[in-house]
Amino acid sequence: MAVKKITTAANFLKQFPQLFRCPLCHEAMTASENSLHCVNGHEFDLSKKGTLYFLNRQIKTEYGTEMLAARGRMIRSGLFQPLIKLIQQWLPAQSDFLLDVGCGEGSFLAQLAPTQSGAKVGFDISKPGIYLASNQPSAQTLWCVADLTNLPFADHSATTILNIFSPSHYQEFARVLQPDGTLIKVIPGSQYLQELRRSFLPDEKIAYSNHPVQQRLNDEATILQQEHLHYRYALPDQGQFNDLMAMSPLEWQASDEKKAALLAHPFPEITIDLEVIQARFH
Ligand SMILES: [Zn+2]
Repeated sequence: MAVKKITTAANFLKQFPQLFRCPLCHEAMTASENSLHCVNGHEFDLSKKGTLYFLNRQIKTEYGTEMLAARGRMIRSGLFQPLIKLIQQWLPAQSDFLLDVGCGEGSFLAQLAPTQSGAKVGFDISKPGIYLASNQPSAQTLWCVADLTNLPFADHSATTILNIFSPSHYQEFARVLQPDGTLIKVIPGSQYLQELRRSFLPDEKIAYSNHPVQQRLNDEATILQQEHLHYRYALPDQGQFNDLMAMSPLEWQASDEKKAALLAHPFPEITIDLEVIQARFH
């Protein structure tokens, strides 16, 4: 019989309790049975799926199960393979703790994890995302729901923070990273998914600039290396085209007529345009 997910997760907590801190009082945490607790009696229990829920309130997100599942299929089908290869080259050979901030349904971390020693944690504010992530075949990986602005991780615990297409909180990143640890951040370039943008958005919204995001990172951290990734990905069939449409928040802004017209005449390839940045805070 396969080992239960909750047992695997409980073993993770027993092995790596020092990675966590209580999000309520910021004290250290201890593992016992199927939970983490602090000296002040705050307790966080593993779910049956082996996930940990650190939020004390429900947060609604627009990233539903369908969209996240489509995104996962696109990542696993190879849409971001050049990105995954580049990040693999940048990750350190020896890692204590790889933290994926805003992991969604977990496909990026699951593809990167096998090359990394040590603990891996993926977290997201989206409960549907973490539920899907718990099905990822990823060793020594814990999935949890947490708040970006109050990370439940100990000071200077992480070797690397991944931040792929997701919001940042640089003060918390600087606190959680080891002194020589690094942030690997991926932001869309101006031509990212441009075929979809042209189909879905009104003219005045098609142009996009990542300049403000880039500027803020330059102000807060030291850039160690940066690469501009630009390529076109061929969409082999209608199924992948449907997933591409469903995975992006761009779809929310399109009318049903525009979506129907596009599905009747799908374009053959999509542009991926990204800035990949490695930075250090200390
Ligand atoms: Zn506490």
